[in-house]
Amino acid sequence: MHDVVIVGAGPVGLFLACELGLAGCSVLVLEREPGPHSPFKAEPLGMRGLSAASVEAFYRRGMLHQVLTASGVHDDPGADPDADEPSAPRHGGHFAGMVLDPAKVDVAALPYRLSSPAPQGLLTYLESVEAVLSEQASKLGVEIKRGVTVSAIAQNDEGVVAGAGADEYAAHWLVGCDGGRSTVRGLAGFEFAGTEPQFTGYSMHATVADPEKLRPGFNLTPTGMYLQPPNDGQIGMMDFDGGAFDRSQPPTLDHLQAVLRRVSGTDVTLSEVHLVSTFTDRAMQTTTYRQGRVLLAGDAAHIHSPLGGQGLNTGIGDAMNLGWKLAATVHGYAPDGILDTYTSERRPIAEKVLDWSRAQVAAMRPDPHAQAIQGVIRDLIGTRDGATYVFERTSGSSIRYDLGGEHPLVGRNAPDFRLANGPRLGDLMRDGRGVALDFSTDRCLRGSAVGWESRMRYVAGPARNDLGLDAVLVRPDGVVVWAGDRTPDREAFEQAASRWFGGPEI
Ligand SMILES: Cc1cc2nc3c(=O)[nH]c(=O)nc-3n(C[C@H](O)[C@H](O)[C@H](O)COP(=O)(O)OP(=O)(O)OC[C@H]3O[C@@H](n4cnc5c(N)ncnc54)[C@H](O)[C@@H]3O)c2cc1C
Repeated sequence: MHDVVIVGAGPVGLFLACELGLAGCSVLVLEREPGPHSPFKAEPLGMRGLSAASVEAFYRRGMLHQVLTASGVHDDPGADPDADEPSAPRHGGHFAGMVLDPAKVDVAALPYRLSSPAPQGLLTYLESVEAVLSEQASKLGVEIKRGVTVSAIAQNDEGVVAGAGADEYAAHWLVGCDGGRSTVRGLAGFEFAGTEPQFTGYSMHATVADPEKLRPGFNLTPTGMYLQPPNDGQIGMMDFDGGAFDRSQPPTLDHLQAVLRRVSGTDVTLSEVHLVSTFTDRAMQTTTYRQGRVLLAGDAAHIHSPLGGQGLNTGIGDAMNLGWKLAATVHGYAPDGILDTYTSERRPIAEKVLDWSRAQVAAMRPDPHAQAIQGVIRDLIGTRDGATYVFERTSGSSIRYDLGGEHPLVGRNAPDFRLANGPRLGDLMRDGRGVALDFSTDRCLRGSAVGWESRMRYVAGPARNDLGLDAVLVRPDGVVVWAGDRTPDREAFEQAASRWFGGPEI
């Protein structure tokens, strides 16, 4: 009997497995595919953009260097130790194919950011991310069983049993991280609601006989959209067919060439197609992320088009949010209702991502009204405020959970405070505990932090830049749950610690 069975060793399942392993849970991951390698996860089709928030999650768990190296970034950027401002983004991303100029993003205007060794986003590959996470999971004692397809689930008050053929796997909790076509979602009876697709999307690796007929980058045309990223031979297409083609039949070379000709408005010729996958902009999410002892995370809980690259980032955010809450529940010290805050905090985030995706689709439709909208958006994202707004939405900087509390930092991602004697908040979070930072001259929270040592690290000392705060309490997922900006109120601090970490140990 494991504490937790995770179905799916994709990036979200593996990230969650690491979080649970770090917190001392026994974890079994069941994965359908017999091996970790797939051409769809490698260059060029496996390219994925990690947001600032996701890169920071790797940094906070001591995996930044590994993920940069695996992604082919060898000049570990490392923030300027003397800078207090966050670094500028390397890539601005796009809205509906309209590319953002990263130089226009006003990083100083992002709410509560300080410099950090984690870059503001990273281009990587699914294979690289999964390799780093699999290695970390194994180091943390997580068992990964490949070639196991879960096809049945039974739960009662005591636990859950996952069935795969004649084999059964029992655990106290089960998390479905089994992707957009989640079996767990269906078996456990989650309601999945949203909007139907407007287009079929294609991501292909192909040889083009006359490449000069296509333009590089995003190309919005009167008949759809095509994309040529810098990767050699990669082409993306969006064909507004109401999603009719997706998965209805195999995409032949003739079909792909016809679509490419239509959306590009050229007579371009494809001489060979090496690899192709299709997708749609169907945008749906479950009405809750938990049914009894079964939870969902990542694409299993929410699907939308890959426009603007947010699916993986939202899933990593789910895993960070859920991991420590589920571990506290497993270990028996979780405060009442903590597991339900997973749905109440994360569902609204995915809801906004789904709407962001729908807004892009509306602006990309091949009709004069959408083209008029494109003109307006181009003008807006060409301004400093517009570029900063889009970056805030896609980088994770705009995320704020409604946790009550008066201070405007509460519910937000903690800035990477750096103590005068060296360590940064990110360094202090590697063991997965919460962190109480006490910048006050008389270390006035020292007595109050006693009793939570196994769940919360207390660190005192002046900060290089305390943003006018005297103390902050940060959850294991990096979210600020209490902030004191004058002489810290010890009672309020203790209430916040009890609310999130349970009562103190005697
Ligand atoms: C073309 C494209 C580009 C994208 N670009 C970006 C981007 O730039 N940034 C971004 O954030 N997101 C992007 N995404 C989305 C991103 O890839 C997904 O959101 C992410 O991979 C979801 O991770 P996951 O772990 O939830 O699911 P998956 O990656 O789908 O993993 C699910 C795992 O579960 C396994 N599984 C399924 N069923 C079972 C079963 N019954 N039993 C056992 N195992 C099972 C599968 O084999 C798989 O390994 C893109 C998507 C596409 C299609």
